[in-house]
Amino acid sequence: MLPGVSLQSLRGQVSHFRHLKTADPGGLSMKYWNGRRPRYCPECLAERPKWRAEWDLTLMVACPTHRARLRDSCPSCNRPVSWKRHSISMCNCGRPLTDTASEIATNAEIAVSAYLSSALADEGGVNGADYRTDVGRLVLPDLLAVCTFLGGYACSNGAKPTKIANLDNVSVATAVANAAGQAFIDWPHGYHELLGIVCRNRGSEDSCARLTARFGYFYTALYKRFEAEQFEFLRREFDSFVSREWVGQLAERNRRLSPATRRRHAWISLTSAAKLLGIKRDTVSVLITQGTLEGQTHRTASGRTSGTVSRCSVEALRDEKAQWLTLTDVRKLLMISRKRAYALLRSSVLRPVGGPSVDGSPVWKFSTREVMALMSTLSDVASTAEHR
Ligand SMILES: [Zn+2]
Ligand SMILES: [Zn+2]
Repeated sequence: MLPGVSLQSLRGQVSHFRHLKTADPGGLSMKYWNGRRPRYCPECLAERPKWRAEWDLTLMVACPTHRARLRDSCPSCNRPVSWKRHSISMCNCGRPLTDTASEIATNAEIAVSAYLSSALADEGGVNGADYRTDVGRLVLPDLLAVCTFLGGYACSNGAKPTKIANLDNVSVATAVANAAGQAFIDWPHGYHELLGIVCRNRGSEDSCARLTARFGYFYTALYKRFEAEQFEFLRREFDSFVSREWVGQLAERNRRLSPATRRRHAWISLTSAAKLLGIKRDTVSVLITQGTLEGQTHRTASGRTSGTVSRCSVEALRDEKAQWLTLTDVRKLLMISRKRAYALLRSSVLRPVGGPSVDGSPVWKFSTREVMALMSTLSDVASTAEHR
């Protein structure tokens, strides 16, 4: 204990005391602190011999003030900077850490670093035309989680893209931060490009495959782990990517495909699906939830349900619906009276697939397959009765 010195205001872990289990006073998970290999901005350090807490955040890779990349090695001997050194601005080789020209960071690296710096200082957002308020409003743990998620998926096709090895190495962290930053600085195009990369890295080429097959765990994480309100902007643009860009990209890559094939691969809106199927928009959502249609829905900030449906699954259902029977058809097939038909309906022996209580349509509809199965059951029952 140093007399008169308080460590209260310091952030991060106490580095190089591995057995000292200290939590970050700000409550940020230790996984977001880089305690192994210190980084610094040569220009900041030259101006003032002070080590900044923000440099220790895993995805902090640039200095927003000097627009320079952070370093984690000595410019003279090239060895990793060590916490165990005699002077704050000097390497143990005896040369100043500031004795170097700084390397210019990319706009994406600067953007991520500016968001992180602001969130750590709790400044409530970054000013400037290039900065997004929905990203700037994220609290530090959320911001780090999003950047690790987006950057991890863009940079890796391993089994666990968000468990990034060697993130304490500034060059690894820079690649991840740069990829996440690309998504933010040219929103939504940058994000759409990132989603395209995720698809190519992980997913099936078949655009009619389920979203989980095309995006892997990314899709599940987006709707489960990032389901909270503050991440809505990520989900909204994901939906828009799936419904619009995917079609365009497919057309771009497969110019030889016929227009009809390209059209079939489209993802369409809930409203278009409802029109094609002749049902209510709400019913389309229900059918997606039930798994009858393939698609995704989410609730927008205004409380409206928004989403996209695979055209393939809509067309398949429409074709199936064309085979559906009315109650009159069923009565003719089963050779039963209206009264008997309603009795079967009430006892759920005859189950409608469409109608007043199913999808709000005024006419009862029945699946041909189920009615055929029922017909053989009923004739079995009848012949058993005859033989008695
Ligand atoms: Zn600096
Ligand atoms: Zn050195």
